[in-house]
Amino acid sequence: MPDAPAPRPDGRPAAPSPRTLAVSAGRPARTPGAALNPAVVLTSTFVSQGAPAAGEHVYGRIGTPAWEPFEEALAVLERTDHPATGRAVTGPPATVYASGMAAVDAALSLVPVGGRVVVPRHAYQVTLVLLGELAGRGLLRVEPVDVADTDAVVAAVRGGADGPADLLWLESPTNPMLEVADLPALVAAAHEVGALVAVDSTFATPLLQRPLAHGADVVVHSVTKYLAGHSDVVLGATVTDDPELHARLVAHRTTRGAIAGPFEVWLALRGLRTLALRVERAQQNAAELARRLAAHAHVVEVRYPGLPDDPGHLRAAAQMDGFGAILGVRPVGGADGADALVAAVRLWVPATSLGGVESTLERRRRFATESPTVPDDLVRLSVGIEDVEDLWADLDAALAAAARTRSAATRTGTAAPQPGGAG
Ligand SMILES: *Cc1c(COP(=O)(O)O)cnc(C)c1O
Repeated sequence: MPDAPAPRPDGRPAAPSPRTLAVSAGRPARTPGAALNPAVVLTSTFVSQGAPAAGEHVYGRIGTPAWEPFEEALAVLERTDHPATGRAVTGPPATVYASGMAAVDAALSLVPVGGRVVVPRHAYQVTLVLLGELAGRGLLRVEPVDVADTDAVVAAVRGGADGPADLLWLESPTNPMLEVADLPALVAAAHEVGALVAVDSTFATPLLQRPLAHGADVVVHSVTKYLAGHSDVVLGATVTDDPELHARLVAHRTTRGAIAGPFEVWLALRGLRTLALRVERAQQNAAELARRLAAHAHVVEVRYPGLPDDPGHLRAAAQMDGFGAILGVRPVGGADGADALVAAVRLWVPATSLGGVESTLERRRRFATESPTVPDDLVRLSVGIEDVEDLWADLDAALAAAARTRSAATRTGTAAPQPGGAG
């Protein structure tokens, strides 16, 4: 987690830490009798006649006060240590959408028709599905890279005969492989050739990583995950410093119509208030579980950037304020061992998604669309805020139960049972 901010060299007071801003940003004006929290504004239209004044609300798909407190708060958080800003929000607000995928779609709309997009080969699977679909329709060209291999990404961004990239799409750490991209080096290489850089920062949250400070053009979030944090809403957001890009993103939302519901956005802001507490506890739990799992007899491999020997460790330590709370675990016994583990837990919830207060896990390759280079036996753990000893006891027992299932299957010569739903 970030330390207390240092005083600014120009003598102005330091900006509050993101932990404080998560609580204080996006509040209504402090006038006597005013509500402490913003209202849930339920209206599809606004009183309006003649040519609307700048900023005047007209219609609920174009803009509504229901979105604005959350959009302001998220932008403030993403800019906490931006070199170009002091304590005030000087850039445009965030843009909230109906889902993380709507935010991804909006960010990809910044690519010109026929443009080249360089993308991590392991990124959120539906982002890759969408890119594949857009490429299939001839709207853009996609070049997958190993995002941890900086030289390879830089070469792909510079391009060959078919010209440089138009967009470098980054996800860091990646879902589900937890690879860490060298943000400063890759942003610099992309800007050298005039490419935009978008960073899906869902795993990190603005508490642990602020891509705008590294020069990225657009930050993308699945708000569904840590920002809302309670597994009760599906929402997405983009943040940019560039007013022109912001206007294009808002225009895309207005015409495509993937808009967020007022109550969902209100819940996301409510969830944001406890972001620091949730992320701190989940991360502390994750670090402890990663350490214990790495030494477990029934575990082949643990991926967690917080482990000192993880390939992404040094890079994450240099550019992030913490290592997050997602683990990749490969239990012994291959995909069957992974399925048996997921079937044996009692406290952990077998479920997709991540970033909620409750701990969840799933074998990622149960989805046919997951990249074939993701190991078949990789179980992604989203560590929640429960007591770490309870989480450990459940995992440890489930790993032992999975191992027993496997040895029984070996003795009788049958395959280990496939729990339902992992097709
Ligand atoms: C979940 C997720 C998304 C998609 O978000 P939705 O809210 O499910 O549409 C995008 N990127 C990452 C990294 C995610 O984990």
